[in-house]
Amino acid sequence: MAGIYFHIPFCRKRCSYCNFYSTASLTSKEALVGAIRKEILLQRDYLRREHIKTIYFGGGTPSLLSYEEISTIFDDLHKYHTFSENVEITIECNPEDITKFKIDEIKRTPINRISLGVQSFFDEDLNFLKRTHTVKNSLNAIKFLQDKGYKNISIDLIFGIPSLKNENWIYNLETAFYLQIPHISAYSLTVENKTLLYSQIKKGKTKAVDEKKVIEQFEMLMKMMKFNNFIHYEISNFCLDGFMSIHNSNYWKNEKYLGIGPSAHSFDGISRQWNIDNNTKYIESIEQNVIPFSVETLSSIDKYNEYIMVSLRTMWGCDIDYIKHNFGEKFSKYCLNQAKNNIRGGLLINYMNKLSLTDRGKLFADRVASDLFMVK
Ligand code: SF4
Repeated sequence: MAGIYFHIPFCRKRCSYCNFYSTASLTSKEALVGAIRKEILLQRDYLRREHIKTIYFGGGTPSLLSYEEISTIFDDLHKYHTFSENVEITIECNPEDITKFKIDEIKRTPINRISLGVQSFFDEDLNFLKRTHTVKNSLNAIKFLQDKGYKNISIDLIFGIPSLKNENWIYNLETAFYLQIPHISAYSLTVENKTLLYSQIKKGKTKAVDEKKVIEQFEMLMKMMKFNNFIHYEISNFCLDGFMSIHNSNYWKNEKYLGIGPSAHSFDGISRQWNIDNNTKYIESIEQNVIPFSVETLSSIDKYNEYIMVSLRTMWGCDIDYIKHNFGEKFSKYCLNQAKNNIRGGLLINYMNKLSLTDRGKLFADRVASDLFMVK
């Protein structure tokens, strides 16, 4: 079974911290949707007719799509793909887009999961991040969705924002619990190159992210999630029983996926490819029946390193038997040997031949993973 991801590269305004590909001009939206529809046709064999168990509209801001645009995309998907029973279909939405009218439109499509970019329940933080929505927009969106019967709602929250005090972070989490949100993705604010935030910090116009505060808030997050019966199934993802994201889990379990739209990535089990991150060039190329992508065939070492990086972030951990079976004994022995120091240091545990991060290890996940990487 496989997944399909759509990248919808439009936003009302660029947020200061974001490095995803999108533009703040909607002029090419109609042409872009046309190109996406054509790419569905051109890529119809990429997943070798496997049943589709998850579809994800990400971006960018997919909630800028109209009902007609979403419906035509589904018409095309149904022509070339078979969906499995209980297919999970998620759309990322910005809170300001979620009006009662918009929810009625979404209700008429097969979309059954909403991921809402709340980020914080404080306007001060939203202003800092240069988000276009307000706390009121988020609260209204959640209420409207729940009133319309949507249960499978995920919200994104960001911690480590310089304006976010520890007590406000606790309030953000308590608000999410109070609102009965069953899935929470919580990310630390990362300062990516080429973002407005990066240049503001560099010029001293805004405070830098305080690493000590990031660690404190991550520890609070893990503690409060545990206390409220949330499963910490991936480093940034928490859910109540029955609300795990199939789409996310698919990525982490190395299953195949097809990415459609500018900058979207695909994986067929052997190689990774990614579309050009330029709307105009993407549209022009698709009009000529050419998918504008670059491709990388992964070596055994690449695949092993990717497996380590991804699996270690999940609650299932890194399976030594899987490594032995898929990459060979040389890799499994290497992995176990490299893990020794971090096991001794209390950052990793080896239970039934599966390596997983301890709560303290989760604070240093990237470093622990890199200790297990194999260098070419
Ligand atoms: S964070 Fe989301 S809404 Fe903001 S610029 Fe990035 S993709 Fe657009």
